Amino acid sequence: MEELHRNYIAGEWTEGEAIPNVNPSNTDDVVGHFARATKADAERAIAAAKAAFHGWSRSGIQQRHDILKAASDEIMARRQEIGRQLAREEGKTLADGIAETMRAAQIFDFFAGEALRLSGEILPSTRPGIEVNITREAVGVVGIITPWNFPIAIPAWKIAPALCYGNTVVFKPADLVPASSWTIVDILVRAGLPKGVLNLVMGKGSVVGQVLLDSPDIRALTFTGSVGTGGKVAEASVKVMRKFQLEMGGKNPLVVLDDADLKTAVEVAANGGYFQTGQRCTASSRVIVTAGIHDKFVAALTERIKGIVVDDALKEGTHVGPVVDQSQLDQDEKYIKIAREEGGKLAFGGERVKRGTPGFYLQPALFTETTPDMRINREEVFGPVVSTIRVKDYDEALAVANDTPFGLSAGICTTSLKYATDFKRNSEAGMVMVNLPTAGVDYHVPFGGRKGSSYGPREQGRYASEFFTTVKTAYTLP
Ligand code: NAD
Repeated sequence: MEELHRNYIAGEWTEGEAIPNVNPSNTDDVVGHFARATKADAERAIAAAKAAFHGWSRSGIQQRHDILKAASDEIMARRQEIGRQLAREEGKTLADGIAETMRAAQIFDFFAGEALRLSGEILPSTRPGIEVNITREAVGVVGIITPWNFPIAIPAWKIAPALCYGNTVVFKPADLVPASSWTIVDILVRAGLPKGVLNLVMGKGSVVGQVLLDSPDIRALTFTGSVGTGGKVAEASVKVMRKFQLEMGGKNPLVVLDDADLKTAVEVAANGGYFQTGQRCTASSRVIVTAGIHDKFVAALTERIKGIVVDDALKEGTHVGPVVDQSQLDQDEKYIKIAREEGGKLAFGGERVKRGTPGFYLQPALFTETTPDMRINREEVFGPVVSTIRVKDYDEALAVANDTPFGLSAGICTTSLKYATDFKRNSEAGMVMVNLPTAGVDYHVPFGGRKGSSYGPREQGRYASEFFTTVKTAYTLP
């Protein structure tokens, strides 16, 4: 029997019914057993966070810095082991698991520093003799709900700023990947967080997550996940008049122009579309190619994809690991079928493949000759499935790129300053990449999208303070 990993509520590791966390590269391999919180557990966690808020929001910035820094140091020191656990539970390659773990450490380090840089403004009043102070204060109990595709980075970029600015937290990770979240909480607890400041409630969204959504004591809710669940978060949050932030799906375009460097464009498309099994909200799933380079580009991309090794995430030489679970695999296969039925030409892949271990292996799929109105170009698949759309020129490419309900990330491959500049100005996405994959971002600058992809203030970097603090304006007549 694997070690039982418990929930952490009100400063105690609590008992509970546990379920296995299964490795998608090898379904015979159990990463560990993880407790499932009940409705009552979630309610206790919220009460504990509420009780701890007064003390933590008034704690010294040195204490907050030291705890966040200690967490960063431990995560960085254990990156190989934690990265391996991440790759084992989620199915991204070992290199990606370690890189994501390092990212989490960097995020904790960044917000450790931010704790020391809290500031406000002092302004003169329009009424002589009066002073105006503008300060930022903690919001209260923050609910954190995260998806499965970045099991350690997304929890880190929500937990670190929440604690940095003096909020207390109830954290519900994705039920598919609880190990990385459990590890972060264990590290933060040992780094010295006072009781009740951070509570971990693992389990089903519809049970545990729903308690967070419905509680008026959760004063801010930060969510990353699907559009469907995001809608529920929004609706529930409006009912209790709380602050909320949503990061959701994408159907990110990559434009390839006639003047692009072919090698760069192929690498950017292969990385953005297929790496991490295409399971990135910023993945480029629509590649919009101008007529002059189209055939050359498709031929070169097809060759490139043939070289992608799909295998066990922990095996040396693997470029792309398995799909995360059976239901995601079903979704990927459903969209491959839909794309075929809609008239897309399957240029490569799309087949389930067997490897040495029982896992959810899918050959990367490339569709060509698709049109912007097809479902494959309008709905998020969230798998290693890319389609190309042929257009006549830049203007049509830009129009097609923006013709989507989403607006997270968008990319262009070109050697023309004119088109690169125009695309940066006119793309309707929150993040724009020139000659770089649509996925792959820094942690010290804002992250987020527009239209149906995101709602509320940006995450990460200094912009995180917009969500995790509330502004106070004080007037003084000395
Ligand atoms: P999901 O919406 O199914 O689940 C996300 C989280 O919400 C999980 O923790 C889940 O348990 C919880 N949840 C589900 N139902 C709930 C309910 N009724 N009440 C409260 N919580 C509930 O999403 P997923 O499948 O885990 O993640 C994949 C999605 O996440 C994709 O659409 C992807 O694009 C998106 N994503 C977006 C970003 C971004 O920053 N924009 C980043 C990563 C992933």
